[in-house]
Amino acid sequence: MNDIYRDPGTLEVLLSAEQIQARVAELGTEISEHYQGQELYVVGILKGAFVFAADLLRQLRIPCQVHFIEASSYGQGKESSGVVTMRHKLEVQGKHVLLVEDIYDTGNTLLQVMNDLQQQQPASLEACALLNKDIPEKQNISLKFQGFEIPPRFVVGYGLDYAEYYRELPCIACLD
Ligand code: 5GP
Ligand code: MG
Repeated sequence: MNDIYRDPGTLEVLLSAEQIQARVAELGTEISEHYQGQELYVVGILKGAFVFAADLLRQLRIPCQVHFIEASSYGQGKESSGVVTMRHKLEVQGKHVLLVEDIYDTGNTLLQVMNDLQQQQPASLEACALLNKDIPEKQNISLKFQGFEIPPRFVVGYGLDYAEYYRELPCIACLD
């Protein structure tokens, strides 16, 4: 075994699988009500949001498409690098776009993805993050939907990684 991976059983659980599932179901209802009568174009931000996006999608009760873009600001470390790399070929003009992100930390990622997609003139553009990290310096983003506010800890699980590990955990745990 390598020296990065620790037994997940030894990590402090911040949000249990049950807590996450219950909140994701509520978010599905909120989002379905908000977009009632419209078609939704869901855009998950890879890789971290793939688990959340998959669960959230199954709680929606409106017609929707799901697409993904790759964006990352972390590299291999535990601190946001601030430099966001992004890759996609989405066409969102006239669409109701909902960005799905694992965690709103500094907000650099969401801000840059939103600025990029806004240029194509979508009918609407909103963001949903499972976690909102309580740090003092954040980009000011209007986050329409959020799962949980969390303290400024480094968390893994439910899609979130450390050096690509721990994405498989059904809960959110602290690694600092
Ligand atoms: P931001 O651009 O808002 O600073 O950071 C957003 C991205 O950084 C998230 O999509 C996520 O991939 C990563 N990130 C931020 N905080 C954490 C954290 O506590 N744990 C993990 N694993 N990734 C994080
Ligand atoms: Mg991410």
